[in-house]
Amino acid sequence: MEQIIKEALIDIVGQTNFTDQLIDMISYSYDGSDHNHRPEAAVWPVTTEQISEIMILANKHCFPVIPRGAGTGLAGAAIAAKGGLVLDLCRMNTILDIRIADRLVVVQPGVVYADLEKALAPHGFFFPPDPASGKVCTLGGNVATNAGGLRAAKYGVTKDYVMRLELVLPDGRTMRTGSQCMKSASGYDLARLFVGSEGTLGVITEITLKINPKPLAFRTGVGSFGSLKDAGQAVTDIMHSGIIPCVLELMDENTIRVLRERANADLPEAAALILVETDGYTEEEASFQMSKVMDKFRKNNATHIKKAASASEVEELWRIRKATGSTAAQLRTNHATEDVAVPMSRVPDLLTGIAAIVKDCDLPFVIFGHAGDGNLHPKIMYNGSDPDQQRRFDEAVGEIFKLTCSLGGTLTGEHGVGLAKASYMSLEHDAVALDLMRSFKKLLDPNNILNPGKMDLEA
Ligand SMILES: Cc1cc2nc3c(=O)[nH]c(=O)nc-3n(C[C@H](O)[C@H](O)[C@H](O)COP(=O)(O)OP(=O)(O)OC[C@H]3O[C@@H](n4cnc5c(N)ncnc54)[C@H](O)[C@@H]3O)c2cc1C
Repeated sequence: MEQIIKEALIDIVGQTNFTDQLIDMISYSYDGSDHNHRPEAAVWPVTTEQISEIMILANKHCFPVIPRGAGTGLAGAAIAAKGGLVLDLCRMNTILDIRIADRLVVVQPGVVYADLEKALAPHGFFFPPDPASGKVCTLGGNVATNAGGLRAAKYGVTKDYVMRLELVLPDGRTMRTGSQCMKSASGYDLARLFVGSEGTLGVITEITLKINPKPLAFRTGVGSFGSLKDAGQAVTDIMHSGIIPCVLELMDENTIRVLRERANADLPEAAALILVETDGYTEEEASFQMSKVMDKFRKNNATHIKKAASASEVEELWRIRKATGSTAAQLRTNHATEDVAVPMSRVPDLLTGIAAIVKDCDLPFVIFGHAGDGNLHPKIMYNGSDPDQQRRFDEAVGEIFKLTCSLGGTLTGEHGVGLAKASYMSLEHDAVALDLMRSFKKLLDPNNILNPGKMDLEA
């Protein structure tokens, strides 16, 4: 990066909020995915005005700007694919307002998900999306990727809670869009356009989020199955039974084996396992829902059924579920966690189809995920330095995306497109829709400054 640009950046944010040290550039060249590319500098802005000035400077000198939260993204969306400046929002981390009477909070983008949870707990409220990375990921990152999580089956994902955004547009203009009212039918829903835009259309500088009263009673249970087909059918039946569990997670036999062998998990051997949580505002409500779940387990030939009898049993089940991704990743040097999703009724087809594809590629794999909303995580482990393994991995991923789209599904239920899925966008989106996405990008960012190289927006 030219000296003149560095000096201008230091003028805007101050010396202590600027770095081009090699060690920082190496850290910023990664996110939670296997992608990496080194940026040239990074800044920690602390005001919206500073971000606006940075965007004006970037347009003047034509250098890329990559907004970044905690860098936990799994699609390479925060990678500086074309070099440039990382805009790390982590120092804009104030919870600006908690307005229980209005059922909303106003936060800066660098607030960590778990910190908002902690701040809301004494009020008996919560912000439901609950990504598994919640202890570290930021709310700005959640909005920019439309993050979801374990409770999405019942409570939806981030987009269902975004009421108003403040943004800095690529040309430096600041905009507020959306409303702090529970309802608004006024004009185009521009806020939604920016949810899931992965830092390609604007920098999110303030977020108003809807919050929910926290349920008071919970029940947890597991069912094991002799086949993936039975487990998939149990998921479909539960979702048709008139109740909506808040968590409905599925693990295949490889996941169960890896967890038994490497995470000391006391799980029965089975072809598949379903972990369910029900919730409500009374004990009866949560129990009633769990009894319906158990009925569907039995109807679909469950080989083993268990309701957690104590808080420590519940805790252990969640420990096991949350250890899944990192435990499986130990099997090879490289790994990729896909997050395809299909309409609920197609879950059994997706499960059996993915199992056949990954078996054929002859690499270690596990399949787990949020079956309650049709969102599965096939995770394939491979050694990227071996060209043959890399080829088999690439082919399997391509086949999984084709299968998913043929079932009316989507490439990504929650992790986003980033670099990882950019070349597959045309499998899911028709030519007119893709062209419109590229037109929005050109309209807002004619110099392609903000997070270039992502989401197949440049063709
Ligand atoms: C162990 C683990 C578990 C995970 N579990 C889940 C899960 O259950 N559900 C889920 O949805 N995801 C999950 N993820 C993925 C990741 O945590 C989410 O995508 C999260 O929303 C990213 O937040 P972040 O702050 O780390 O954003 P980053 O990774 O830093 O950035 C992600 C994208 O958002 C953009 N961005 C960030 N901040 C802003 C901003 N203020 N303005 C504009 N653009 C911005 C970036 O440019 C990038 O495109 C998991 C990741 C890991 C490592």
